[in-house]
Order: sequence, then structure tokens, then C-alpha cells
Amino acid sequence: MRWQNLTQEPGEHGRAADPALFGADAVTTRTFDTPEFRGITFHEVRARSVLNRVPGASRMPFEWTVNPYRGCTHACVYCFARRSHGYLDLDTGIGFDTQIVVKVNAPEVLRRDLASPRWRGEHVAMGTNVDCYQRAEGRYRLMPGILAALRDRTNPFSILTKGTLILRDLDLLRQAAEVTDVGVSVSVGFLDEALWRTVEPGTPVPERRLEVVRALTGAGLGCGVLMAPVLPFLSDHPDQLRATVRAIAASGATSVTPLTLHLRPGAREWFMSWLARHHPHLVARYDRLYASGAYAPNWYQRRITRQVHELAREYGIGPTRGGMPRRPPQPGDAEEPEPAGPVQLSLL
Ligand code: SF4
Repeated sequence: MRWQNLTQEPGEHGRAADPALFGADAVTTRTFDTPEFRGITFHEVRARSVLNRVPGASRMPFEWTVNPYRGCTHACVYCFARRSHGYLDLDTGIGFDTQIVVKVNAPEVLRRDLASPRWRGEHVAMGTNVDCYQRAEGRYRLMPGILAALRDRTNPFSILTKGTLILRDLDLLRQAAEVTDVGVSVSVGFLDEALWRTVEPGTPVPERRLEVVRALTGAGLGCGVLMAPVLPFLSDHPDQLRATVRAIAASGATSVTPLTLHLRPGAREWFMSWLARHHPHLVARYDRLYASGAYAPNWYQRRITRQVHELAREYGIGPTRGGMPRRPPQPGDAEEPEPAGPVQLSLL
């Protein structure tokens, strides 16, 4: 692993940061011999700044993100963020699932960043690159400090997650929602457990995620569901879409936003090798559907969106709550950027 060739994130408030602040010796590598973390390696780093400006932010519903982790033990085969692991010279396949970078000082650095006179209190999105409530959060407990910092500055924020661990922080979320806009979205693309077991092997089962939605709405926070990804020929049958939207509605979700699978470089290779192992008869159909790039054709995406919106109306799911940005953050909105050139571990 070449720690001298790590990705550069924008520095505080988007300025380029000092690339020489941290060297390779700033990384502490740990493993934990518990069933939960067997086979996982954690690379603990100290961040210089944790507020990242989103490249091309004008196209996004938010401009700023906080990502305390890189890599994700939820191990979704299709995860777009795999590519950004390559910027760290880490493997984008199994390495993304098992080599987790942890910004151990994220809460204190965020508190300092938010207090800067240059910070204008803009919306901060979390969970837009990798899941901030992945299993590692159970051990490192970075999110309580992050949420407390945002609450104390009355700074609006949103979280997108597949992790049930978010319920641990329910009180903090409630406290924050009393003083600022808080939006929470949970990602549930389908209900099929056999499909879940192979394509999202490290995540809580979809029904458990819907229980999270139920708990959040029951606590008065409100919660949208990002129905993502809809997997062509695997979870897009009208009966599957109906069952998923019906369950989302029954969970009390305040909105449902469908998103068709996209396959960017890094994710594409990993997903297609999974497809060849588990559903070889679909490989040619996927090759045709994604022949022109990372996205399914517009006609396909429009069809899924229309079907889901019609079902949402039928099951009475209401509009997006006020605490959310114009649309919920979506996976791929804020991929961490590729470095312009070799830099040291200055910005993780
Ligand atoms: S899609 Fe989300 S939950 Fe799944 S591996 Fe990627 S970051 Fe983690």
C-alpha cells in the first residue's frame, strides 16, 4: 500500500490543504479479533479537516459533506465508492469491504471547522460517499461527536444510511432537530432476501432497515427512503416494485425516491463479476443495457421512476419533509475526488 499516494480532499472550506502535514507514520493499522471484525483492517488517521466541498456542487442538493470513514464493511457489490478506494492505492473489490480508513479525530476537527469565522452554516450531507453507520461506527463511535458538534452550532444536516446503528443516536438526532433542519434517509432498494444476501452481504436485512424508518418516524423525526438501487431484471418486476413500495409506505416513510443501478468504473467490474457468478444468464442483457456507459438508458430510468411514483401515490406516501435538501442525498452524489497528483496523507 502506498500511503504516499493518497487521495487529496479539499481542505477546510474548499481550500487546498498542506500536503505535507501527515506522513506514512500518521497511520495506525489495527485489527480486532471479534467475529464482527474478523478479516477487517482499520487504518486510523488524523484528519486535517473533515468538511469537504463537493466537486461540481452546483448540480447537487448540498455543497458540503463529512465522511468519517473510507471503505465500507456493508460490502454492497454495486457500491459506486469502490473507485475512490483505488485513489488510496487500495483494492476496489474485497479491499473496499475489508480495508477501512477511519478519521479518528473527525468530531473534534469538525467542531473546530464549524466554529471558523469562514464557515457560513451551510447544509452538511453525510453518508454520501460511504455509510457513516457501517459496523466500524459501533467501535469508533465518531457520529455522536459529529452530531453533537452540528447540534451545538445549529448547523443543518442530512444523513443517508443502511445502518441500524443510527438508532443508537436517536436522542442526539432529536436534540439537533429541535434547533436545526435534520433530514434522514434510509436506503432500501428491494425486499428480496436471497438477492440481499449476495449483493449487500454486510448490510442489515431490508426489513430491519424499514424498522429503522419506523423508529425514526415514530420518534417524530421523519425519514425518507431512497429506493436504491433498483437492479434491472433482478428487482424491477412490477410485483417486486409494488411489494417494496408497499412495505416502504407501511414503515411510515415520508417519501420514496427510486434510483436505478449505475455502474461506474470500479463498481462495474466488481458487479459484473458477481453477476457472472450468480446470474450468468443476465450478463449479456446488462452489457446491452449499460453499453453506453455507467447509466441505464433514459427510457429505462424513466419507466422505473414513473412506476415507483405511481405506486407511491397509490400507497399514500407524502411529500419530502422540510428538513431535507431539495432531494435526498444519493449514493454517488459526493464521491471523494481523485488526487491531482501524488500527495501525502494530509487530508484524511
Ligand atoms: S452502497 Fe453504501 S452501504 Fe453499501 S457498501 Fe457502499 S457505502 Fe456502504
